[in-house]
Amino acid sequence: MNIVLMGLPGAGKGTQADKIVEKYAIPHISTGDMFRAAIKEGTELGLQAKAFMDQGALVPDEVTIGIVRERLSQPDCEKGFLLDGFPRTVPQAEALDSILEELGRPVEHTINVQVEKEELIARLSGRRICKTCGTSYHLVFNPPKVDGICDKDGGELYTRADDNPETVTNRLEVNMNQAQPLLDFYKAKGVLTNINGQQEISKVFADLDALLQGSRS
Ligand code: AMP
Repeated sequence: MNIVLMGLPGAGKGTQADKIVEKYAIPHISTGDMFRAAIKEGTELGLQAKAFMDQGALVPDEVTIGIVRERLSQPDCEKGFLLDGFPRTVPQAEALDSILEELGRPVEHTINVQVEKEELIARLSGRRICKTCGTSYHLVFNPPKVDGICDKDGGELYTRADDNPETVTNRLEVNMNQAQPLLDFYKAKGVLTNINGQQEISKVFADLDALLQGSRS
């Protein structure tokens, strides 16, 4: 099951990705998570990525494509994978096609989780992330059982630097401008499936799951 999951920041892509990888037991490849891990570890990649991420800008394609190529070549991706946050640009999508052609593992589902801009701004300003495991919550839409504490591992919840109000609008605009050509690219290929993300988390997952089940024989 090879999946590309797209959606603007705050569309619930990360939440749905967690549910899909749990059910289908495939690796969750999130370029955002890979960059954040690299920043935490203080690696060269982390240093390169941080300057762009702090401004709500995209990390350059050559850097991003390089880490995805390396990750997809690992043996655990043979049984399938879910790409989350990649591709974000048409050159990344073209590079992905050629990487997967080399590996002989084409994408089966290219999915876009759709949510209106006003709703995204409201969602992003309430997002909280676990410091330890990265699970995301929302103060109103998906709160933890105990305020400020992760349900899964008791980790402390924090607001991501790029979810700060000054950064949110810029990040959304950058992403919307980047996303449209990418959506057009996949639409033109006739492989894009839109899922309504403006529903309850469980309903969005039910729609996604029905789509994925439909491809299983
Ligand atoms: P995310 O967690 O997917 O919202 O990503 C957080 C930040 O990481 C983005 O705002 C970008 O700065 C960077 N990033 C993640 N994925 C990509 C990508 N595919 N291309 C470029 N930058 C990315």
